[in-house]
Amino acid sequence: MSQININTMENDIVIKNITSPSSVVLVCEHASHHIPASFDALGLSQNNRKSHAVWDIGALAVAEQLSKILGAALVASEVSRLVYDCNRPPTSSDAIPSRSEIIDVPGNRNLSQLQRDERAEEFYSPFKSELSNTIKQTKNPVLITIHSFTPTFHGKTRSVEIGILHDTDTRLANAMLAIAEKNTTADVRRNEPYGPEHGVTHTLKEHAIKEKYLNVMLEIRNDLISTLEQQEAMATLISRWVVDAFENLNEPGVVQCQA
Ligand SMILES: [Zn+2]
Repeated sequence: MSQININTMENDIVIKNITSPSSVVLVCEHASHHIPASFDALGLSQNNRKSHAVWDIGALAVAEQLSKILGAALVASEVSRLVYDCNRPPTSSDAIPSRSEIIDVPGNRNLSQLQRDERAEEFYSPFKSELSNTIKQTKNPVLITIHSFTPTFHGKTRSVEIGILHDTDTRLANAMLAIAEKNTTADVRRNEPYGPEHGVTHTLKEHAIKEKYLNVMLEIRNDLISTLEQQEAMATLISRWVVDAFENLNEPGVVQCQA
């Protein structure tokens, strides 16, 4: 029986299955709705403090299930993306957004460069180094980032259910899309509802593409992962796509499936 160690650090968490040889490293940059008390809820109304603007609803739960099924490491941010968006470099204005869809974020307005730098230092730097270290400890790493999106955005309904996203390295995304096409009736699309043009592939570029590690970003519509049963079913479905895609690619590494 494999053992999962959970180390809770100040700003990020790593769940590493130390006895597993799995090549998969899971990442959940928008895992948390936590806003440290010193930020006074960033001035958000009570209603908005757990909305999709603040975090990716259901994403961490799916990532945790995937971690169990694949015996894979998981690195997740422990603060809201409105405090610092760990899928953005410090140079991006979106790293600390003053507005998210229809929600204003008063606590992020008119920040000085020093205040922005301090946020990056406190929340992004430890996340980045924890992820780098986890990847370094993994043989033939395969990076998979897990996100969720809201079914309605700026008043428009989204019919896409699962997005398989990539930047310049299309290998794993292509292989997963080919399998998904035959394997599910779900509405699965390439680079939707977001794509590299929206700046969402930062983690892939920073931690995988430079080193030519296999990588993919997954976006799941959050109404499909709102219950434990749905989260387990989604993780099972995705884990099969990952395992089959990896097998078809014939690359070195180990991607286990215990589902
Ligand atoms: Zn996200």
